[in-house]
Amino acid sequence: MDFDEKVFVSSARLRTAEELLDALDLYFRLHWAVVNERWNHKRAIEGIDEGVIRERHYALNCLLQFQNVGVDWDDVQTPTLRTRRWLFGSMRFNFSVMKFMDPSPVRCPACGGESALAVKELLALRACCLVCGASLRENGLRMRKFVDETTTFYDAILIIMHVEEHFGTTIPDENVEAVSPWEKLTLRDLVAAVDRSLPAGSTASATDAVMAAVCKEFPSAPECPDFTAPLLDALGNQRRYESY
Ligand SMILES: [Zn+2]
Repeated sequence: MDFDEKVFVSSARLRTAEELLDALDLYFRLHWAVVNERWNHKRAIEGIDEGVIRERHYALNCLLQFQNVGVDWDDVQTPTLRTRRWLFGSMRFNFSVMKFMDPSPVRCPACGGESALAVKELLALRACCLVCGASLRENGLRMRKFVDETTTFYDAILIIMHVEEHFGTTIPDENVEAVSPWEKLTLRDLVAAVDRSLPAGSTASATDAVMAAVCKEFPSAPECPDFTAPLLDALGNQRRYESY
């Protein structure tokens, strides 16, 4: 490859903190998505190279001093859960669920043709292939599942952060990420993760702490939520795509 270092350096410009934080937000989300896909569904996301995403995430974490000031390059970490919490804490971002590119390119399972279709139509399960007319219902269902997973993740973080504040303790990522795939995560799983994270000899009730967090963060949740139901159902969460 023909590469002129001087030209490259002289064409560089300093990015604003806002641009960098937006970039970290994007790469964090992409990183989470590829890890989630590999972990829960044993596959890669088409067109996304996990290695590239990981390195960018790494570089941005280093640049933005996500852990602490003065951490060496070799010691930078890219935990997906903690990054999200850090972004929450430092930006007080109003995170919404993962946004899809709109229109979104999808591949038809029947003819293999690619169409760019409105996200609204896909999520409503009304979209059809522009090449052969076949239903793209399956693609829509996968997108719905993805929305549910990211929403569950977002809701779980709110509960965890609330519980952490209450106990003045940290609930390690591993204790949460180990419990269950996000789509199946229940309030009981969260209680188990909190329970494992309490200091030895603590008499605090993990159940009470999780319930307090639910009441505070999700005022419209049922008074006695189902602890064994998927989190979104337990919290009485409206599925966003159903309102399309
Ligand atoms: Zn087709």
